[in-house]
Amino acid sequence: MSIMKLENVSKEFKDGTTKIQALKQTNLEIEENQFVAIIGPSGSGKSTLLTILGLLQKPTTGTVYLNGEKINEQQEKDKAKLRFDKIGFIFQSSNLIPFLKVKEQFRLIDKITHKPKEEYLNELFEKLDIDSIKNKYVNQLSGGQRQRVAIARALYNEPTIILADEPTASLDSDKAYEVIDLLANVVKEGKRSVIMVTHDIRMAKKCDVIYEISDGELKRKEL
Ligand code: ADP
Ligand code: ADP
Repeated sequence: MSIMKLENVSKEFKDGTTKIQALKQTNLEIEENQFVAIIGPSGSGKSTLLTILGLLQKPTTGTVYLNGEKINEQQEKDKAKLRFDKIGFIFQSSNLIPFLKVKEQFRLIDKITHKPKEEYLNELFEKLDIDSIKNKYVNQLSGGQRQRVAIARALYNEPTIILADEPTASLDSDKAYEVIDLLANVVKEGKRSVIMVTHDIRMAKKCDVIYEISDGELKRKEL
């Protein structure tokens, strides 16, 4: 079964009297344990697609499924719960909270779930090689370290899908490949998939599937 599915999804924006078709009729199925890349130039619809997959925006037409469940008609609070439980987000500039230490970044999630997971957290610290920096503040970390913490934070809630928006854009290519390898392992080791938007074809080539988006039109690209 697919984790996530878009059926005839489109998204239109109105800019005064002009209509912008940010996403044309789109069909997409994300399978379990898939590392998916989405590439395309600026303004082609990548962010729009990612926010629809992240249940942050409603499509104009079409149906979104998460774990076989139809999302369209669900109430905002139910969508928010699904988003929290099932979807992890990683951004270009990590979005960590500047006035908290690395280890405290995870406490916010505990506050919502009331279920601190000490053992799993230690395992993530080990796996992502951030144990030695857990008492540092975000501004004391390098770009690569920040992204590793961001990946750990996305994983801490054990999502079924991780959406990564240009996660390597701020890194030099060695560090970028490290982050990609970590994400590839995330896909291999758990029952989860990663969808990554990137400008960088070298990073996309590390994925299982590449989709190219051009002017709102999504096409599978042969590797
Ligand atoms: P990227 O990060 O891929 O370069 P940008 O965020 O710069 O993409 O946006 C690409 C295009 O989309 C730009 O022309 C920008 O003005 C437009 N855009 C993005 N978000 C909005 C928005 N909320 N309202 C209007 N235009 C937007
Ligand atoms: P990308 O992420 O590939 O840069 P976007 O998804 O941000 O592309 O944008 C796709 C198109 O939709 C662009 O023409 C952009 O200007 C437009 N767009 C995106 N978001 C909005 C918005 N909130 N309001 C109006 N236009 C938007």
